[in-house]
Amino acid sequence: MNINKKKQKNKICKKKYFYINKKGNINVCINKKKKKYIELKKLINKKKLPIKICFPQIIKNRIKIINNSFKKNIKLNNLKNKYYLIYPIKVNQEYYLIKYILKKNKYKIGLESGSKSELMVILIHAKKKIKILCNGYKDKKYIFLAKIANKIGHKVYIIIEKFKEILLIIKYIKKSKINIGIRVKLNLLELNNKKNKSQSKFGLNTSQIINCIKLFKKKKIINNINMLHCHINSQIYDIKILEKNFTEFIKIYIDLYKIFKIKIKYLDFGGGLAVNYYKKNTYINYDINIYTSKIIKILSSLCKKNKTPIPNILTESGRFITAHHKILISNVINIENNKIKNISNKEINNKNISKKKIKKYLNLWNKIKKNTYINEKKIFKKLKKIKKKHQLGKFNILEKIIIEKIYNNILIYISKNKIIKKKKNKQNINLYISNKIHVNFSLFQSIPDSWGIKQVFPILPIKGLNNKKKQHISILDITCDSDGKINWYTNKKKIKNTLIIPKYKYKKIPEIVFFMIGAYQNILSNIHNLFGKIKTLIIYIKKNKKFKSLCINKNDNILNMLKYTKINKYKIYSSLKKNKNINKRIYNILNKFLKYKTYLE
Ligand code: PLP
Repeated sequence: MNINKKKQKNKICKKKYFYINKKGNINVCINKKKKKYIELKKLINKKKLPIKICFPQIIKNRIKIINNSFKKNIKLNNLKNKYYLIYPIKVNQEYYLIKYILKKNKYKIGLESGSKSELMVILIHAKKKIKILCNGYKDKKYIFLAKIANKIGHKVYIIIEKFKEILLIIKYIKKSKINIGIRVKLNLLELNNKKNKSQSKFGLNTSQIINCIKLFKKKKIINNINMLHCHINSQIYDIKILEKNFTEFIKIYIDLYKIFKIKIKYLDFGGGLAVNYYKKNTYINYDINIYTSKIIKILSSLCKKNKTPIPNILTESGRFITAHHKILISNVINIENNKIKNISNKEINNKNISKKKIKKYLNLWNKIKKNTYINEKKIFKKLKKIKKKHQLGKFNILEKIIIEKIYNNILIYISKNKIIKKKKNKQNINLYISNKIHVNFSLFQSIPDSWGIKQVFPILPIKGLNNKKKQHISILDITCDSDGKINWYTNKKKIKNTLIIPKYKYKKIPEIVFFMIGAYQNILSNIHNLFGKIKTLIIYIKKNKKFKSLCINKNDNILNMLKYTKINKYKIYSSLKKNKNINKRIYNILNKFLKYKTYLE
């Protein structure tokens, strides 16, 4: 996501849905030419926080971008095949979102399920006939549900994910005309690849594919197989990995056509299309146009060279469609400012303090303050010594107060006066001296990927971003978990352990916006400390700073959360009534509490 002030004047909203306006406040923009943009702070005017906001118009734009990009590249290469987007509902199953994707559906978007329950969700949504891809582990019931979906008119494709599924699928599809796809396991294991994002969990290897085809031929149902599918992982940041996999995938298609005469109508390239959570060109090395042109060019050249038909193309690009459209806005409830602290004579002269013990440390601080001691290496050596003595309990509690002040002051001073040159030292100190901002949200509920897979999300205060004076902050949530903090932030082109934001008057920090939380975050979220769902609005931006808003999710109250611990209303009342220490007044108070929200009010 790009929040770019300089370029915004002329290039405001080609792919940028959020930017900093001239006043230094964040705008959301759907269409600059049609004047469909507005300041985010106007959307939350006087509303209780935290709040999540979804912008379905952004989804519409993402769908248009991917379809147009494929269309353009198919045309440029003089091909006659078609592209279809298949939305994998695992990325975000929220009701409004699937409903919105299927509304009108001019691009003939299909849906992908990864389980029986997801297939059920699809059947409830899909009132008109659509393509449905059934991925994931299969049992009898999943296959049976897929057959029902096919019977009621949808174009269903059961994708064989595991070799073990083949016999089950053959047995249950019998002579029905249901389509079958084979998921191809690409790539031999990449050695020395720590992330190992390049090998898929699912799919058949080459010998399994051949055995599968032989079995289908033997049962005379080979014509049911008309799709090949591949998916290595989500958020593949390197186009070279995608390129290698696509080439291998297309070559398998060609060989199956040439050697086994298998007529594949569709090649499904799966997900993997990455989005930019950071500034352009710093993390992923391609954009949508490079992605689509690579697929089309490799497909076109290999098929033409081998005189094979060019199949239609599917992709399951869920993150690309949904990531940008949702944000979280919450308020700062507490700030721990880190500043240079005064050490008074009264403190030093306390009779319980050994002046002799702390004198050399006071001298060190005075020297550094006067800039007579500026050797980074030496300062760090001294600081290490202080820390060791502090840990070993060499100071009494009153001496500790002074030592801690000296330690803290030295760190702030050397950081502000640019005495530190080593990058690693700089980052460590920035984190130590950063102002700790407590924000009214749960990391585990709203951005679980920040904790689970260390995904870095763009974060900024909602307004006042013009101020040139900066401060380092780090964000803590309100759960009682030490992991409930954000460790990595995007600053300009770099990932750092603190977020750099302007300094605000009276040290007040405005509401904080967490961007790009539309993919995976809703369904992966958990209820740590029993913090529940946050009120969610759908907002349609209209012309001239007008908007339409719809509430789709209320805040969970305490009673809602107790249900997750198997405590229902009946259990609460019977247990409270049995307690002889609870009189009617207290009973009524507790009863009232059940309706309170889980976040700070
Ligand atoms: N298709 C399949 C089979 C998946 O497992 C996934 C998720 O990992 C996706 C599509 C979505 O991929 P992405 O997050 O890259 O959009």
